[in-house]
Amino acid sequence: MKAIRVHAFGGPEVLKLEDVPTPRASAGQVLIRVKATGVNPYDTYMRNGTYAIKPPLPYTPGSDAAGTIEAVGDGVTRFKPGDRVYTANTVTGAYAEHTVALESQVNPLPDRASFSQGAGLWVPYGTAYHALRHHADARGGETVLVHGASGGVGLAAVQIARALGMRILGTGGTPQGLDLARREGAHQVFDHGAAGYQEAILAATGGQGVDVILEMLANVNLGADLKLLARQGRVVVIGSRGDATITPRDLMTRRASVRAFTLWSITPPEEREVHAAIFTGLENGTLRPVVGKELPLAEAAQAHKDVMAPGAFGKIVLLP
Ligand code: NAP
Repeated sequence: MKAIRVHAFGGPEVLKLEDVPTPRASAGQVLIRVKATGVNPYDTYMRNGTYAIKPPLPYTPGSDAAGTIEAVGDGVTRFKPGDRVYTANTVTGAYAEHTVALESQVNPLPDRASFSQGAGLWVPYGTAYHALRHHADARGGETVLVHGASGGVGLAAVQIARALGMRILGTGGTPQGLDLARREGAHQVFDHGAAGYQEAILAATGGQGVDVILEMLANVNLGADLKLLARQGRVVVIGSRGDATITPRDLMTRRASVRAFTLWSITPPEEREVHAAIFTGLENGTLRPVVGKELPLAEAAQAHKDVMAPGAFGKIVLLP
């Protein structure tokens, strides 16, 4: 089969399309024919060798595949050949024509979702749900600022927050990204490149501040975020690419807090809840992954450049 292999950490050019043996499913594992693979920012940090998790070389990147079950190993009971599925991590890597995953890493994909949409589920929707429900304890009637609403996690957060009955303020950096965030459920949108947009956000809350902020770029925004919070407000740091300076008194005077996580540390009960919510949301149409760009697997290097470029528009997906 064809797979992307990384033999040395480095820039996008280290992603090589190669012929490798098709993996086999051992006991407790399934073999998936991959129809689409989601590209996430962390794939690029891992490829660079700068991420907290450094896989042994060579490796095949990717955690988010969607496709059909081709074979099941001994003891697998939840799936049979032909089933449509998506993965939440894999054993052999998702940037490939086939991937092997543990039965526990695989979840059913409702007919209503395309394979490309299925490739945009685990990291984006898992992160957004985990942030809103398990870290922010977000409630209907509260106001959430999705700081970076035009990308994979942000759009997922907008849709989930809408389903929870929240009021949603979203930011993006392009008119297209802002339109998309509005179309997917944001009540008001703000250009995070425009001077004074934080004041406009505060004004949109009547000066009260927002209850929850989901932050995609904490190194740029965290200090200013704290001044946008309501009493008892919570910032959840989802993404950060450097250090930040804050004024602790902004937290003290509001009884506010900053929380943070990586999706790798989600607990099994939390993860079960996430997948149940994803399945139901896809079935009833409240969750609709937005696929902004589809590229052939051979163009993985281009996809890695695109996912780090400004002007996000939903998910970038690779098609093996
Ligand atoms: P993405 O699809 O590339 O989207 C990036 C988002 O960040 C876009 O909405 C982008 O807006 C926005 N952005 C750019 N500049 C910004 C600024 N100054 N202020 C606020 N937002 C800004 O990436 P993603 O998959 O949604 O992931 C978002 C971040 O979360 C990444 O850093 C990723 O590594 C991280 N993440 C963390 C976890 C975790 O476990 N903690 C899980 C998933 C993702 P424009 O392009 O429109 O300007």
